[in-house]
Amino acid sequence: MARYIPAPFARLCEQFERLPGIGHKTAMRLAYHVMLMPEAEANKLATSITDAHRELHYCSVCCNLTDKDPCFICSDQSRDRSVICVVESFKDVSVIEETREYSGMYHVLHGVLSPMRGVLPDHLTINHLVARIRKGNVKEVIMATNVTVEGETTASYIAKVIKPLGVRVTRLATGLPAGGNIEYSDEVTLARAIVSRMDM
Ligand SMILES: [Zn+2]
Repeated sequence: MARYIPAPFARLCEQFERLPGIGHKTAMRLAYHVMLMPEAEANKLATSITDAHRELHYCSVCCNLTDKDPCFICSDQSRDRSVICVVESFKDVSVIEETREYSGMYHVLHGVLSPMRGVLPDHLTINHLVARIRKGNVKEVIMATNVTVEGETTASYIAKVIKPLGVRVTRLATGLPAGGNIEYSDEVTLARAIVSRMDM
């Protein structure tokens, strides 16, 4: 960064620039905004980041991000434990929850298979999912990975691994646009995709 920009400001910009979707100009704008905040506000922002990192961890059952173990959803006794919906990210859980069309359990993969980027089955929570299914009681696994090449590859791979365990494997696809992220679909489309899921 230019020499006339003070180093601490440049460091702040650099951190913002590492965030997804933030370019150099936006990073500068955010850093400038933070500098205009009263110090107490800026401290609140900084501590909420460190607190979230310290207090959140993966649920030991579904791998969702949580501050309690098991998470809110896994501890809800009214939910259907015979169905597991497999999603890429914890953000997808809240999107599906908002449709109010699903009352089963979840399993968060924290990524998708991508041999090109070096993401292999062991890097995701697939083994943990297999162990959950092996415990019994699971009748159906809904693959709700994104409708992208990597999302499809991941769904097919997992289906191949878990079908021999005797579970029904279905895929959320109808109505979802190709290349579409679950995260960005509207509630009605996503609700329809859950209801009209197909066997894999
Ligand atoms: Zn959980």
